[in-house]
Amino acid sequence: MPGTPSGSEDILSLVRVDRFPHLWCAGCGHGIVLGALVRAIVDRRLDPASLVVVAGIGCAARAAGYLKLDGVHATHGRAIAFATGIKLARPELKVIVITGDGDLAAIGGNHFIHAARRNIGLTVVCFNNSIYGMTSGQYSPMTPRAARATTAPYGHIEKPFDLCELAAACGATYVARGGAYNPARLTGYIASGLDHRGFAFIEAVSQCPTYFGRRNRLARGIDLLKWQKEAALPLERAASLSPEEREGRFTVGVFRDVDEPEYTEAYDGVIALAGKKGAEAGP
Ligand code: SF4
Repeated sequence: MPGTPSGSEDILSLVRVDRFPHLWCAGCGHGIVLGALVRAIVDRRLDPASLVVVAGIGCAARAAGYLKLDGVHATHGRAIAFATGIKLARPELKVIVITGDGDLAAIGGNHFIHAARRNIGLTVVCFNNSIYGMTSGQYSPMTPRAARATTAPYGHIEKPFDLCELAAACGATYVARGGAYNPARLTGYIASGLDHRGFAFIEAVSQCPTYFGRRNRLARGIDLLKWQKEAALPLERAASLSPEEREGRFTVGVFRDVDEPEYTEAYDGVIALAGKKGAEAGP
């Protein structure tokens, strides 16, 4: 299709380079995840005019501001609610949600589980750095047990969510997890999510050296990337390991990929039925 992206020039055509330097700290993983998203859009040769990006609040959400796409920087935790409204009003658009682990799984948790249950056609990319970075390192629902945070100086006592298991259990029809340590694989997961008709959830394990890393003896971005690489466990291998052997690691791969009725398509059926019933009833 003429005008759709195909190479490095097209990658740059999707990025607001005039807004650089970006605000992320040195070694932050969010630029890598944003790069994977842009490459996925380029790979699928999507028309930029058919895309809308909706972001919540936090370091991850600032990614939307660097994309040369129509978008909304929404309120905290409500990106999926805004995205749901856009998708219902303009179902022909591809709506991408950019969110962080705090934004999605804490204040936005309710929207997340119900959007997954409805199987509404959104592509949600969660930049999971296990911490609230923008507000200086409070623990999030994704902070691992025993990790330190500004609000857990003696070690975190809560068990984190497994966001992919949660999304799949709620009904999301495409679910995958990758990480900044392997951007090519992550790009593939996001591209498959963009192809998907229903609710697609991609968790991108990212890194915050400034607030998570420094408190957990992983002060440089490279230390956290090495940790990701060593801790990542392909789903197929994880199946043969005991819970003790999986302790401290995270699974990567495609958790779910099924075709089920998409919400806005079903809603079109309701609109058509209501119109028919109204016409039968007469003025
Ligand atoms: Fe990245 Fe953490 Fe810095 Fe935020 S505070 S920009 S998440 S390194």
